Amino acid sequence: MREIDHTRVTSVVDEERLIADSLLVKRHLDRAVPPGVPSARERAAYRGAIMELLERRNAMIVAHYYVDADLQELAEETGGFVGDSLEMARFGRDCDADVLLVAGVRFMGETAKILSPDKTVLMPTLEATCSLDLACPIDEFSRFCDAHPEHTVVVYANTSAAVKARADWVVTSSIAVDLVDHLAAEGEKILWAPDRHLGAYIERVTGAEMLLWDAACIVHEEFKARGLRDLVRVYPEAAVLAHPESPAGVLELADFVGSTTQIIRAAREFPNRQFIVATDQGIFHKLQMEAPGKEFIVAPTAGNGAECRSCASCPWMGMNSLQQLHDSLETGGNEVHVDFQLGRQAMVPLQRMLDFAANRRP
Ligand code: SF4
Repeated sequence: MREIDHTRVTSVVDEERLIADSLLVKRHLDRAVPPGVPSARERAAYRGAIMELLERRNAMIVAHYYVDADLQELAEETGGFVGDSLEMARFGRDCDADVLLVAGVRFMGETAKILSPDKTVLMPTLEATCSLDLACPIDEFSRFCDAHPEHTVVVYANTSAAVKARADWVVTSSIAVDLVDHLAAEGEKILWAPDRHLGAYIERVTGAEMLLWDAACIVHEEFKARGLRDLVRVYPEAAVLAHPESPAGVLELADFVGSTTQIIRAAREFPNRQFIVATDQGIFHKLQMEAPGKEFIVAPTAGNGAECRSCASCPWMGMNSLQQLHDSLETGGNEVHVDFQLGRQAMVPLQRMLDFAANRRP
């Protein structure tokens, strides 16, 4: 593997665009109002009504690890699914439901629709987006690709259908390293978008030559290496598990770096009794289920006095609620639509991802 400069991140956007991006993210964040907390009685009533509706509409809930524990439990109890975005995509495509109710963020609903064009795809809210998706608008991204025609375009799943349609490959964090390693071995130069931290991590691990788009996840970017170092001193026996969307300084301190599913597996398999976890707190529900008796501690973020977004909780994932899920299922509201032609184009790199993932499965 050739030596590379690990600190190099090729910024492809000018300052003006970064400011425009952060304003756009802020505008969407202002609309990300968390749902009120329902009483135990209301929750029970919603659960009962949702179960009936799921049956009547032959629908299934496909939920991400980061959404509320109530939604995760309901998905599993009713034969639906909880997983990372790759597994959600696969499950949605393969199940025989007529309606998929995707509890997550917008790009997950779009991916489900692209892979299952004949199914109705609903979401609890269409306002739930992602800072990575917002910071990678198709026009600028397309110009960037055009300026580097000799590069293979690999995009993260956290992108719009239009950006996926412009790509050669789509990946999730669970297969990003393997795929780029594979492409690099074939001598390909990689253009990567949108997460700069994940891109830089893949570049470090694989030694691949990569051009990186400059965007970040507003949740993972808030994890701080300095605070983490202090916390490790407090819990010297704890293993640090980190998602690769976290900054390089945090990843350097991690005992394990991986996707959400890989983090859950590591928590189960590592002998440690304590873990410091650098990813969205929504995952703690599954961690506690899969590794009972072990203790999980949230990795430090910007800390006291910081904005509420630095609480290791994605504001957009947090918009998914039992009530909205119920309303969407009852009225058929919040249906996800993807232009047919665009969907067909986006299907090509998505299918490559699924085929690649299937071939590397043990
Ligand atoms: S946690 Fe980060 S990457 Fe995931 S949906 Fe929220 S903003 Fe996007």
